[in-house]
Amino acid sequence: MPKKPGYEELEARIKSLEKTAGDINNLSEQVFEDLQFLKIIIDTIPSPIFYKDRSGVYRHCNQAFSKTILGIDHKQIVGKSLFDLPDQIPSELADIYAEKDQYLFDNPGSQSYTGEVKCSDNRTRTFQFYKSTILTESREVAGIVGIMLDVTQFEERSSRLSMKNSELESLSYIDALTGIFNRRKFEETFSEQLQSSEDQSRMLNIAIIDIDFFKSYNDIYGHPEGDKSLKLVANIIDSAMRRPDDYAFRIGGEEFCLLFWTRDDSSAKILADRIRGDIEKLGIEHTGNKDTCLLTISMGLLSIRNKTADKTSIYEEVDKLLYKAKRSGRNQTEHKTV
Ligand code: GH3
Ligand code: MG
Ligand code: MG
Repeated sequence: MPKKPGYEELEARIKSLEKTAGDINNLSEQVFEDLQFLKIIIDTIPSPIFYKDRSGVYRHCNQAFSKTILGIDHKQIVGKSLFDLPDQIPSELADIYAEKDQYLFDNPGSQSYTGEVKCSDNRTRTFQFYKSTILTESREVAGIVGIMLDVTQFEERSSRLSMKNSELESLSYIDALTGIFNRRKFEETFSEQLQSSEDQSRMLNIAIIDIDFFKSYNDIYGHPEGDKSLKLVANIIDSAMRRPDDYAFRIGGEEFCLLFWTRDDSSAKILADRIRGDIEKLGIEHTGNKDTCLLTISMGLLSIRNKTADKTSIYEEVDKLLYKAKRSGRNQTEHKTV
């Protein structure tokens, strides 16, 4: 039979028990404080945070999530899944989110993606989601923690920036005086058109247009009047290029270029002559142009059936044709097919 403890031993045991009880008390106070601390931190973080268990049921969330995302109380969220909150999460979105969650459950680790979210104030914002799986001691997936970062302003700014960039890019292809494409655009388009695997039923035409005696036009009527005439000429040739892959460019002072496609070379010549006639018909007085006393143009036109020649030699060929048109009395088109 075990010996009964004496009074002193009992007193010692009671003291030890009292001490243990005190330690437990201190510890639970510490745990309570730590939990409070964590809860306050999580609720103070402005980014929405949530925790879902393995079956997709919300177990925790912070105030940013309950107030700004779902607009309901924390208590109404905990214990519910994506599909139990149809007023807050439309079923089509619930399906998308559930699919992402499922992927993470099947492939434990972390996941990040951008998504549009309709918030409690009815505004749709863009969030970057950062999600990670939480594992049990036996390394099974216990749930998912998610943090959502509002990147709406960043996205808006970067899309404004890329819009500005594309505006700037398109401006860099425009001639400031006339508003038609410039030489830079011509260089790029010309290369593209030569390389295009166009069917053999159409031919590429290139024309260089130069205003006749334009130096003397400026001398007689002044530079501002010269600019006005350049705009009128640009307008005529640009409107003549009607198809989406037909282009007019201002490639230098009073020089323009055309790139256009036709079924045959005779239709190219007809179009070129019509443009030349339309410019003459503008009726811009030019007394320095003795034959007509009107502002006229000369044109070199090359119809390219066989696109084997290189860009430079083609350009030189058209330039020669233009020179020939000038020498033969101006206000005419010199045409050749290669
Ligand atoms: P040609 O018939 O042989 O082409 O004679 P041209 O006088 O037109 O030829 P030239 O190349 O000697 O002169 C071109 C003139 O175009 C020189 C310049 O005064 C004028 N010019 C070039 N750029 C501009 C511009 O932006 N505005 C104005 N108003 N004139 C310009
Ligand atoms: Mg010239
Ligand atoms: Mg000229």
